[in-house]
Amino acid sequence: LISSKDRPGLHVIHIAAEMAPVAKVGGLGDVLTGLSKALQQKGHLVEIVLPKYDCMQYEHVQDLRGLDMMLESFFEGRTFKNKVWVGTVEGLPVYFIEPHHPGNFFWRGQLYGEHDDFRRFSYFSRAALELLLQLGKRPDIIHCHDWQTAFVAPLYWDIYAPKGLNSARICFTCHNFEYQGTAPASELAFCGLDVGHLNRPDRMQDHSAHDRINPLKGAIVYSNIVTTVSPTYAQEVRTAEGGKGLHSTLNSHSKKFVGILNGIDTDTWNPATDIYLKVQYTANDLQGKYDNKEALRRQLHLSSADVWRPLVGCITRLVPQKGVHLIRHAIYRTLELGGQFVLLGSSPVPHIQKEFEEIANHFRSHEHVRLLLKYDESLSHLIYAASDMLIIPSIFEPCGLTQMIAMKYGSVPVARKTGGLNDSVFDIDDDSIPVQFRNGYTFYTADEQGFNSALDRAIYHYKNDSDSWQQLVQKNMNIDFSWDSSALQYEELYLKSVSRAKAANRS
Ligand code: ADP
Repeated sequence: LISSKDRPGLHVIHIAAEMAPVAKVGGLGDVLTGLSKALQQKGHLVEIVLPKYDCMQYEHVQDLRGLDMMLESFFEGRTFKNKVWVGTVEGLPVYFIEPHHPGNFFWRGQLYGEHDDFRRFSYFSRAALELLLQLGKRPDIIHCHDWQTAFVAPLYWDIYAPKGLNSARICFTCHNFEYQGTAPASELAFCGLDVGHLNRPDRMQDHSAHDRINPLKGAIVYSNIVTTVSPTYAQEVRTAEGGKGLHSTLNSHSKKFVGILNGIDTDTWNPATDIYLKVQYTANDLQGKYDNKEALRRQLHLSSADVWRPLVGCITRLVPQKGVHLIRHAIYRTLELGGQFVLLGSSPVPHIQKEFEEIANHFRSHEHVRLLLKYDESLSHLIYAASDMLIIPSIFEPCGLTQMIAMKYGSVPVARKTGGLNDSVFDIDDDSIPVQFRNGYTFYTADEQGFNSALDRAIYHYKNDSDSWQQLVQKNMNIDFSWDSSALQYEELYLKSVSRAKAANRS
């Protein structure tokens, strides 16, 4: 048996649009950093290529410096110059590409949601591969993520492998099949891909129209390994209801498609060392958790009169996927059940943001409800620590990280049984699950009654059996949600794919 230390390490290069904590919108950013760190610890050489956004958290990049090279990459029929920067993020080497293109692609004050996202990220995907070629990199694995860097897969095989960047297998991870990045087929030509060759139903043509191209589909077809972020979600997206139009493509490529549950980065998410908390704490000493509850209440001007009033938290992007109607309902239901409610969320959808602003205003000076409609990393840590329960009533959820973070901080998840929530939250009252795995409250039907059936039981438990609640909190805090076992699964997929390629080359 070869231990991971003796095994020669792989060279893995991630090409992605997000990386926590420098450029994070959601779970993708967390995964990139958590998985990369875990692979690095196993002895692999891991590098990352990101766009150089104007709005990055530059204080988290160490030793940032410009490379003494001018990278020229192809787009819209000509070449453009790019400045390349290198730096270290969380101990990981990162290349940042700054295009000198008149479109100012990454100078927009936000990562996504621009009218020209397809152009911005197809440009980036091509420039990233050009960088690897120019630097003479010989990676074993190029790992791309979500539709923004899905272009890497067809670009690699159609353009870069013939140019000599041919050492790698391509791994693609889809973090959410909702976002596919479709565009008129002609736009694919901007990054140099051959529209005539790729706009076919078995390649990149979108299922909705024969003149639209689907980058996500291209990555499924052109990658050697395709993963998504939980086993249940991997099954759901292979059905007509869950596949958002890609189920038949996924079924045709099912041999290379697997679901691997994400881990969480336990350096970032550890209540014993978390600098954002008022008081650090462990499962053996929960007093710190109660102190954080008190601190949050004071900070948000909520009533502190009753220490034992349950505090229900919700930390989320406010988008339809997250079950916004149930989140709204949860505020009122929590009040009816004698709890306090804190929401931290922001919405890219104007009518949802407006609706929640109205609710926030309504409760502006309420002693038991506070809605904070913004993205705030440090406040999120304090809410995980302070809350007794965290609600995640998602309509669908590829993996979900908040339920795992919540458990690590002793906040009991109240979650809908879908996707990764189904793989990580197990109902306290579900007799079909061994007792040691039961860790939260779940429901299935995505309506108010369904949600109540879980929240009501959670609050009843909290109020009526504090000893067993405390045991639950302590048990949950000790569950291993680290990247160790998930990174091992990625490592195995990489190694298998690399050795298959070597065997094929020999024969
Ligand atoms: P998604 O990727 O769909 O947004 P996940 O549950 O996979 O959902 O990841 C959400 C991540 O983003 C978690 O780390 C969570 O703490 C964080 N997050 C979500 N909303 C906010 C917010 N408003 N402020 C701070 N962090 C947030």
